[in-house]
Amino acid sequence: MYTNVKYILDDAVKNHYGVIASAAVNVELLRGEIAAADEMQAPLIILLGQGQMSKHGNADVMVPMIKTLAGETNVPVALILDHGRDWEYIVHAFRSGFSSIMIDASAYPTEENIARTKRVVDLCHLQGVPVEGEIGHVGQAVDMDGCKEEWYTRPEEALSFIKATNVDCLAIACGTAHGKYPKDFVPKLRFDIIEKVRAVTDIPLALHGGSGSGDDNIRRAVEAGINKVNVCTDIFNYCRDFTLDALKKDPDYDYLQLLIDIEARAKEITKHYIGLTGSAGQAGNFTAENTFGLKLGPCTGVGE
Ligand SMILES: [Zn+2]
Repeated sequence: MYTNVKYILDDAVKNHYGVIASAAVNVELLRGEIAAADEMQAPLIILLGQGQMSKHGNADVMVPMIKTLAGETNVPVALILDHGRDWEYIVHAFRSGFSSIMIDASAYPTEENIARTKRVVDLCHLQGVPVEGEIGHVGQAVDMDGCKEEWYTRPEEALSFIKATNVDCLAIACGTAHGKYPKDFVPKLRFDIIEKVRAVTDIPLALHGGSGSGDDNIRRAVEAGINKVNVCTDIFNYCRDFTLDALKKDPDYDYLQLLIDIEARAKEITKHYIGLTGSAGQAGNFTAENTFGLKLGPCTGVGE
């Protein structure tokens, strides 16, 4: 079933588990990831980033495909715009049928972050579309940003950010970073930050940069209060490495078979991550009667 992140993550908060948010830019990744969730009866969130959409996987193509595939399984599947930074992209995603939006204004000073986030919340809530914001800043693994403690989320600031913006989900910075970490580097996570933010709010908390963070760290982050674990690089690289290996072994690999086999690898790696979060078997908490439906607000002047 196609739904939004609030419907999924509110249950994750209530029942203390995490949900994988996996990046998908084509039909093979989408089908593999949704098949993994279906087999493990786990709720799933699909990420499609502003940057990815601008280069590949345009919303006009991806949204109908995701809705169709989500409709073929009983497990709840949400789609979120990942790291929406520009108003134009955010409005485009909103109008294209994304069920959820992330606004990332975390590189701005707090006041500006609040103003930009609130503007998106005000738009999206009119149509019942939940919004994820970010306070603190999750940077890039290649720059070792995860070690920059000055970028970590301050729990008291998290609470005032939630109150000021009315976001439905909060991404926090506590030691992870986006992309691929240097070889053999495993980040040290500040679980105390997760616990402190969890203690002051009951909205869902998101951990970005899940790739390469280590299975134990992800398990412990969920235990500490994380409900959404974003994974992109590991899925992409797992499929890339398989492709490289397959073509090395057999340069005449049938192209269609290669795509089918890549889909199987996407399923494999997604199952691994689902297994770390406690979401397996949780699809039973979501009943057909509770399926996401648009809450129509007053005329918004958008989407027409
Ligand atoms: Zn992220």
